Amino acid sequence: MSAKPTKNLLFFTEKLLDWNFYKNKREMPWKFEKDPYKIWLSEIILQQTRVEQGTDYYNKFIKKYPTIQKLANAKESEVFKMWEGLGYYTRCKNLIATAKFISDNLQGVFPNTFEDIILLKGIGPYTASAIASFAYNLPYAVVDGNVMRVLSRFFGISTPIDSTEGKKIFNELAMQLLDKKSPALYNQAIMDFGATVCKPMIPACTNCCLSSKCVALKEEKINEYPVKAKRIEKKHRWFYYIIIEHNKTFYIQHRTKKDIWQHLSEFFLIEKENEVDINTILKTQEFISLVDGKYSLIDMSAQYSQVLTHQKINSFFIHVALHKKTPTEPNMYLDKKIISKLAFPKIITQFFNESKMWKAKD
Ligand code: SF4
Repeated sequence: MSAKPTKNLLFFTEKLLDWNFYKNKREMPWKFEKDPYKIWLSEIILQQTRVEQGTDYYNKFIKKYPTIQKLANAKESEVFKMWEGLGYYTRCKNLIATAKFISDNLQGVFPNTFEDIILLKGIGPYTASAIASFAYNLPYAVVDGNVMRVLSRFFGISTPIDSTEGKKIFNELAMQLLDKKSPALYNQAIMDFGATVCKPMIPACTNCCLSSKCVALKEEKINEYPVKAKRIEKKHRWFYYIIIEHNKTFYIQHRTKKDIWQHLSEFFLIEKENEVDINTILKTQEFISLVDGKYSLIDMSAQYSQVLTHQKINSFFIHVALHKKTPTEPNMYLDKKIISKLAFPKIITQFFNESKMWKAKD
């Protein structure tokens, strides 16, 4: 089916709410929360993050910054450090910017209409609907990948979810299905249903309250829904991190360019389009001008990888000891105690945690 469905709408909503009432046991610290700040924080943390991982971060953030003012007044580097490991750092940047905006311009009070909420930096239709419905019980349906998966399977909608037409169909259908008297309850129900019953890989069809009228189940096409138009080819990037050591201090730089991991710290980086051997790296002009003289090659790590939405980062860490500190950048050399307070990309924290090469330096 490629048009918006007209049958079984009421059945869907009623069965979903029944399931929610009798069977939904999912617990999360932000569930039934009415404070828009806490709802916003949980939603931003959960974008691209599993609930199990997000819960720890949510609890940590709420403990440290119980109000939006506390977050707005926090040191940016401290917030980035708290965010470390969650990835997608633009979320953190927007979180800080929006907290400051609300604190400076709205007397610290979160807006209470969908139209005003969606104007805030880093907040799209999904998050605005979640905040508007959960905090203020306003009738806006949440539509994300989970919701589209449930709807596309149950109604057998084959219009690609990433097409303009698909977005329109799923948004309109979601609004039709929404229980306008209890939007918060309905939205939480469909999110929980997608996460615990109509799961991406192995949905629990045999125990599903919607199975009697589910098109995907009837047609035995569960794995064909949702349909996506484009498959995104991931770009491979090769990051050669040089751990430059001098007198128990290490060269650390800050990522300032508009690229992944902006605002985070890292070792000296030489990026290549393809995998190259270590000698090629040590002969690059960037490396030669940085070390500016004699050095000893200590070690090289195994390959580390991090998969992002549109790219895969492949990294190696090359440890060299300088015989004398680089005169041009003397302030970039930090000891391990200071380094532990900085926020790094996940691939580097993974290296810190796993590599004997780094641990041996303690
Ligand atoms: S029957 Fe299976 S595919 Fe259909 S809605 Fe239920 S869990 Fe999802």
